[in-house]
Amino acid sequence: MAGIPELNEFRAFFTGEVEAAAPEIERTDRIPRAVLDGAARIGAYRLTLPEAHGGFGLSTVELLPYLEAAAMGPGAGRMLVHLSNGIWRPILRYGDERRRALVSRIGSGDAVVAFCLTEATAGTGRDLRSRAVRDGDGWLLTGEKHLITFADRADWFLLVAASDERAAKDSLTAFLIPRDTPGFEIDATQRTMGLHGTGHAWLRYDGMRVDDAHRLGAVGEGLDVGLYFLDYSRISLSACMVGLGERALDEAARFALRRATFGRPIAERQAIQAHLADMRADIDAGRGLVRRAAEAFDRGEEVTAAASTAKLFCLNMIGRVTDLALRVHGGFGYSVAAPIERVYRDARGFWFEEGTQEIQQLVVARQVLADAAETGR
Ligand SMILES: Cc1cc2nc3c(=O)[nH]c(=O)nc-3n(C[C@H](O)[C@H](O)[C@H](O)COP(=O)(O)OP(=O)(O)OC[C@H]3O[C@@H](n4cnc5c(N)ncnc54)[C@H](O)[C@@H]3O)c2cc1C
Repeated sequence: MAGIPELNEFRAFFTGEVEAAAPEIERTDRIPRAVLDGAARIGAYRLTLPEAHGGFGLSTVELLPYLEAAAMGPGAGRMLVHLSNGIWRPILRYGDERRRALVSRIGSGDAVVAFCLTEATAGTGRDLRSRAVRDGDGWLLTGEKHLITFADRADWFLLVAASDERAAKDSLTAFLIPRDTPGFEIDATQRTMGLHGTGHAWLRYDGMRVDDAHRLGAVGEGLDVGLYFLDYSRISLSACMVGLGERALDEAARFALRRATFGRPIAERQAIQAHLADMRADIDAGRGLVRRAAEAFDRGEEVTAAASTAKLFCLNMIGRVTDLALRVHGGFGYSVAAPIERVYRDARGFWFEEGTQEIQQLVVARQVLADAAETGR
């Protein structure tokens, strides 16, 4: 097994080979096989996997620069790194021996697991409409999901459904469902504004029979399984926002140096310099919050609020930074010939992945109020 990828080579893969594939990814909405294989070759899927499962065992803090590097290229590339280095965690923690055997296959790129929570007709968490009803030694699952990343190529689906009607914390149960389960409809034609190649899909199941062996965690533990993934995932996504912010700033600065108006490069105008400086400060502030959350995660601390704080700041940061980067480009930035056009679209996905601004605000405010109640006693 080759060693831990060298960071510069890793970055060169995503900003070189994956970037070169961007026109094809944009046109076909698929990731070329060569990119998928190349990511496996450089070890991109197994950075954080434990060594016992064929990974490099990087801590979350050690992973951050790799996520940033991957996010500097097209969005599909960072999604590969983000998902594979996170989705193994709930499987290893909650899975039995057979489920845990999947982990090394995720790391080698031989198995893809999609995370399935969101429903078009319901809120998330306790509000899920998907139902899992006991049926002998198995379950009957009825419901739908949408916006499921990599559902076009996933082999397994980590799907959360309500296993009773109480809408309580312990009313959800998680399953790891094989793609070829009879009655599992995967409609991978859901096109998105950006992040092309990330294969979003609607999932539909009506009385689909799933063996109890495919349950992940105990009955009623589904919320824990989901949240265990989300805590890590919000930190990981925030690092990706920092990386894409760097890409946007780089595009803006290089454009400012080469674009001249009224006889001088726009880089010499204080108004443009102010934009670049604001972007720099915003990105660096985001990086600090991400690192703080990652350090706490690696220490095994409760990080729900810290992860949401990082995501809350970074999703607004990436909005501001890509807005400014687009403005610096003038009208050229609005044409599809400009890399910033794709960066701008890819950036908007972060507003929703793993929860919106409003949901992060709820999580952070809950912690603020709990702290205040604690100290007020
Ligand atoms: C690129 C991309 C990839 C994704 N990948 C996945 C995936 O792999 N798996 C998966 O399960 N999902 C995935 N999603 C879905 C994503 O997690 C959800 O879109 C997101 O959590 C928001 O949920 P929703 O779309 O149901 O919005 P809604 O819940 O319908 O929210 C609509 C609006 O109402 C606000 N709102 C909702 N509830 C409240 C509340 N209680 N208080 C205040 N405001 C509220 C929201 O903030 C938002 O502004 C993905 C989405 C995108 C865009």
